[in-house]
Amino acid sequence: MAYIDNTCVSCGYCLEACPVQVIHQGAGKYEIDADNCLNCGSCEGACPCGSIHMEE
Ligand code: SF4
Ligand code: SF4
Repeated sequence: MAYIDNTCVSCGYCLEACPVQVIHQGAGKYEIDADNCLNCGSCEGACPCGSIHMEE
């Protein structure tokens, strides 16, 4: 799954890049719905802050 760390500035670019729209505004940062994430990596490349990380 992909996860978003605390450096997120809530710009929303990752949501625009997500093919299945499983990213949403959370508490102070954006969050990914891990159960529905395709692990495609599209959001990681779209983040200007390097806030998104792919992990097993
Ligand atoms: S890895 Fe793909 S499916 Fe998962 S949140 Fe990022 S863009 Fe969406
Ligand atoms: S693109 Fe990066 S900084 Fe912008 S909302 Fe998504 S995780 Fe946060």
